Formats: sequence, C-alpha cells, structure tokens
Amino acid sequence: MKQKRIVILGAGISGKGAAILAKKHGFDVFVSDYGKISTQNKTALVKENIKFEEKKHSTELILNADEIIKSPGIPENAPIIISANKKGIPIISEIEFAGRFTNAKLICITGSNGKTTTTELTYHIFKKAGLNVGIAGNVGRSFAMQVATKNFKYYIIELSSFQLDGMYNFKADIAILLNITPDHLDRYNNNFQNYTNSKFRITQNMTSKDSFIFCEDDKVILKEIKNRNFKAQMFPFSVKKKIKKGAYKTQHKIIIDIITKNFHMKNGLLSLEGDHNVYNSMAAGITGLISGISNENIKNSLSDFAGVEHRLEKYIKVRGIQFINDSKATNVNSVWYALQSINDPIVLIMGGIDKGNDYGILKDLVNRKVKAIVAMGTNNKLIVDAFSNIVAVYDTNSMDTAVKTAYQLANEGEVILLSPACASFDLFKNYEDRGKKFKEKIRNL
Ligand code: ADP
Repeated sequence: MKQKRIVILGAGISGKGAAILAKKHGFDVFVSDYGKISTQNKTALVKENIKFEEKKHSTELILNADEIIKSPGIPENAPIIISANKKGIPIISEIEFAGRFTNAKLICITGSNGKTTTTELTYHIFKKAGLNVGIAGNVGRSFAMQVATKNFKYYIIELSSFQLDGMYNFKADIAILLNITPDHLDRYNNNFQNYTNSKFRITQNMTSKDSFIFCEDDKVILKEIKNRNFKAQMFPFSVKKKIKKGAYKTQHKIIIDIITKNFHMKNGLLSLEGDHNVYNSMAAGITGLISGISNENIKNSLSDFAGVEHRLEKYIKVRGIQFINDSKATNVNSVWYALQSINDPIVLIMGGIDKGNDYGILKDLVNRKVKAIVAMGTNNKLIVDAFSNIVAVYDTNSMDTAVKTAYQLANEGEVILLSPACASFDLFKNYEDRGKKFKEKIRNL
C-alpha cells in the first residue's frame, strides 16, 4: 500500500513536532518553510531523516500531499494554501494531527485574553497535585512532539483561533472559553462572527461525558450559547452573579460548586490580582475540581502560583515606585483589566503598532487612575489624540526615554505600568523583547 504523504508547512515549534510524530507513525513526511529554518530545527529534522526545504514552497513536492499540516502563522490567503484548497487537499493543524495519536485527557483553553495565564495556572494545579501532565500549544510547546516522545495522562493545551481553524475531529475532554473580544480580525475578513465561530470550535465533537467551562459575564459568549446546542456538561463562571453549577465570587470568597463537590477560598488568598485573574483562577479551579483534585491542592496552587512573565508582572520597586511589566497586553481589553486591577496612581507606558484600537473604552479608567501617559512608538499620534485632553501625554520613541520619562513623573507609592495595547514590532522583536528591555532599563536607573 502506498504510504500516506504528509506535508508540513512551517518548520517552527509545532511543525517540527508534527514532522517527528508523523515520521514515527510511518508516513512519508516532507517539511516546507517559506522562510529560513532555525539551525536547531534543521538539525532535528536531519537527525530524524525527514526531508525538508526552506526559503521556498515547491508546489510539486507539496500539492502531492494526502494531507497538509499548516503552521497557525500561515494565513488562509497564502498562495500555497489557496492552491492546496483548490486541489481539495485536507489542511489541518498540528493539534488535530497529534490528537489522533493519544488517549490522554485533553484540557483545552482558548479566549481572546488570559489563555497563557490560565493554561500555566491549570498546569500548575495538576502538576502540584502529582498528576502526569504535559503543557502544550500556543504556550510554546509542541503537542505533537510530546505525543511522540512522552507518555502523559493529561495535557493542558492553549489554543489560538488559528489553531482551532485547522481542527475538525479533535475533541477536548474539558474546554475552557475565557472571553471573546475583537482581535486578529484581519485574518477573519473583518468579520467578528467568523472569529467567534472559530473560538467556539473548541467545543466541537464534545459528548455528555465532557465539560465546557465558560465565562457567564461575557455577552458574546452568552449570546452564542443561546443559539447553539451543547451535549457537554456546562460549568459557567461569573464575578457578577451567583452560579448554581460552576463558579462565582462573593465579596470575600470564590466559590466553586460542581454539585458533587464544592470549594471555597478567600479572594485575598489568590496569588493573581485583578478581576480578570479571578476569572482565570475560577476556570482553572473548576477544571481541577472536576478532574478529582483535592480542595487543599487546588487552594495551595491558586495561592502560590508565581504568575507568568510579561503579564501584569510586578517587577521591582525603585525609590518606592512599583514597576509592572504587562508587555503582553497587546489590545485595549487587557489594558482595561490591568488599569482596573491597580489602586495606586499610575504612569502608563503604552503604544507601538496600533491594530485598530478603540481607546474609548479606556477613557474612564485613565481619567480616574492614570496621572500621565508616556506614549512609546514610532508614531504616537493615535494615543496623543485619544488621551491628551484627559491627561498629559509624553511622546517618546525608545524604551530608554520612555522609562526615564516615566520615572521622572512618578512619585513614591505610585506605579509605572507598561501595558502597551499595541503590537511591538515597530521598536522590538516581539512582546518578550519589549518586556525584557523594559526590565533592563529599570535596572539601569
Ligand atoms: P493570551 O495568552 O490570551 O494572550 P495572557 O495570559 O498572555 O493571554 O494575558 C495577556 C494579557 O491579557 C495580560 O496582559 C493580562 O493583563 C490580560 N488578561 C489576562 N487574563 C485576562 C482575562 N481573563 N480577561 C481579560 N484580560 C486578561
């Protein structure tokens, strides 16, 4: 019988993992990357005897595939994808592919904001409870690679909408949907419903044995739920109202009730601050409880989780001024939550590449909490226009000047917050680079 040919487009973390898993299962594997492949990934492919090409897509080697595994970074309108679609070649994501080769329990997390935090927090709960668990997906670890080389019983998987778009038969045992706000609309024909549908793919194929955990306070999610049918058991969470089966917050506590068991914890003991993190903690807590983890283990993990770098990361204090690195806040919604979670006066460093932001939703919080804005980017006009009638806005175009300017403006007991609301590519390689440079400049003060 002819070997099935699998072509992998994109030789990054997920592409390399998919190639190694496919090879292990005896497929005819070919990897093609339109850019340069890192030396490390090339070495891995050579070692496994996997054929590859870089800096091109050779149609004759790609369009003879039985199935294509596409990196989430490649858009639907890339010429090679259009050609593959025309030929009717199925195109899937690495997660769909790897899901075929594991019997582990799959706990999947998506949303516009909070994915990485909730994924890491859930992983922390499972790991500390002594379970045999792996972490994968958008957090930067390949699911396929771990399925090929490890034997985990559980996976906590962060899923972006782009990964979900390439998923068809995959089924999550537990799905978490944190929130849906406009993001990446350029990849969805500027159609918010298309993006929403993509997020809801996380629930596809679920049965009555599976669990769907979602935010009851999110209007978009609520509306969709009314229009769809679900077989899975539903566990909503809310900070606004009492929930019968799921999780909610009272003035002093978070309460998780899954009918067969319940869990209480003082809000003040949660290690992550802010309402957005109450959501993330509740989602992770419900997951732990329905997976049979003890209340004590869940409580300990929710209170000692160290947080994730670049997400409202309390860095250091200099002269009594607290520096907070929220470089991952690349849209206005996450900045809203950042401002909302801080009670001391704030000097806000923001800016970069604007993805079509509506700064209107920040105006009230800026008015109440922000004493000055330091705009940092190659073009700060939109930020100056949006806020200069509310607070003083300082125009800077490097991290060095931004940090120095903010430092001059802040007093003891106040906060300097980097929460940009924008992508970083005008001045930095990526948001990690931006966060690291922020911390470096603080250390140099
Ligand atoms: P993602 O992986 O979805 O980008 P992260 O966990 O990396 O999310 O957090 C990104 C930013 O979003 C952080 O700066 C944080 O302040 C904000 N954030 C985290 N959780 C939530 C949430 N549940 N709702 C809204 N904003 C959030």
